[in-house]
Amino acid sequence: MKSFKQLDENYVAHTYKRFPVEIVRGQGSLLYDVDGKEYIDMGSGIAVSSLGVSDAGWVAAVTAQLGQLQHTSNLYYTSPCAELAAELCKRTGLKKVFFGNSGAEANECAIKVARKYAADKKGEDCYKILTLENSFHGRTLATLSATGQTHYHELFQPLVDGFLHTPANDFEAFVKLAEENKIAAIMMEAVQGEGGVYALDRDFVTRVAAFAKENDILVIFDEVQTGNGRTGELYAYMHYGVTPDVVTTAKGLGGGLPIGACMLGEKVEGVLGYGDHGSTFGGNPVCAAGALYVLSQLDDNMLADVRKKSAYVFESLCGAKGVKSVSGMGLMIGIETEKPAADIVAACREQGVLCLTAKHKVRLLPALNIPQTVLEKAIEIIKSACAE
Ligand SMILES: *Cc1c(COP(=O)(O)O)cnc(C)c1O
Repeated sequence: MKSFKQLDENYVAHTYKRFPVEIVRGQGSLLYDVDGKEYIDMGSGIAVSSLGVSDAGWVAAVTAQLGQLQHTSNLYYTSPCAELAAELCKRTGLKKVFFGNSGAEANECAIKVARKYAADKKGEDCYKILTLENSFHGRTLATLSATGQTHYHELFQPLVDGFLHTPANDFEAFVKLAEENKIAAIMMEAVQGEGGVYALDRDFVTRVAAFAKENDILVIFDEVQTGNGRTGELYAYMHYGVTPDVVTTAKGLGGGLPIGACMLGEKVEGVLGYGDHGSTFGGNPVCAAGALYVLSQLDDNMLADVRKKSAYVFESLCGAKGVKSVSGMGLMIGIETEKPAADIVAACREQGVLCLTAKHKVRLLPALNIPQTVLEKAIEIIKSACAE
């Protein structure tokens, strides 16, 4: 097949520094490039292709819907959207779902819900949202402003007003900010993904949730990356024994099709009324059919399997030569290496394993159903790249 790298360089906006790999097809956790070279996919499109590439059941569910009805707009009722919302509510205990097309849009919805809830209940001067330092919440102006990393902010001033950042795992600092300001909500990732794969401490999360409840501050979990089985529970907040008011998700939900969801708990289920928010493509039948299939596969067995594979990766890499530390949860794993992460990723790519980075770490986000033998092969190659 002809190379298409140059065409991309010429015509696609240079917002992505791409790896020098031209992918043409895949099957499960294997990808093939333009020359037919095989790679083990340890990134699954940044935690998106949760069942790998071209999973037979997922393809069947999506193509069946595609042959029936691909889009109607939100002016009409469609079955996949309704069923998906019901399934998400059944499995989380949350009450209503708003669908968009991405993580950033799911978070935009959460931000609007928090502002409206607080304005209605506590007055219009109560609109500030606390997020954590080192967090990542998206690229739109509001979610960029929510993101607690200043290097993302520099080129896009002025930011959207109303976001304050507080250090992760520092309950006293959170309380101080919450007492000095009128706070509508706190938004956090249970495991910071782009920030370097750091799981929040249980103690911090439970104390924040209790304080927020007492003070009528909404608790929003950004589960765009951690959601949909990635951490070994359906949603990562479930590891912490807390009940969020809002949960946002996207990435792995559609199994490779663009869909985002903002799930609303009891306190906020009625906050948005007719016309308050919307999305032309949101809840699209094809994407919803894909998501329904993904959820149908995320049963107790699959989640137990994710935890088992996770334990295998942690055991293999902790203490391995050239590995300083291993962090994360489930199949969302960060490896702090002695050599620069970019060098490890390049060495692995040469050997046919595609890994990601997050800050200074090597990041692994394989498909949740990656076969154990394929996983073992990839981990051996990563280990030897770290040891060299
Ligand atoms: C990826 C990500 C987003 C943004 O999602 P998009 O689909 O790229 O808009 C938001 N929050 C978290 C935690 C993410 O990992």
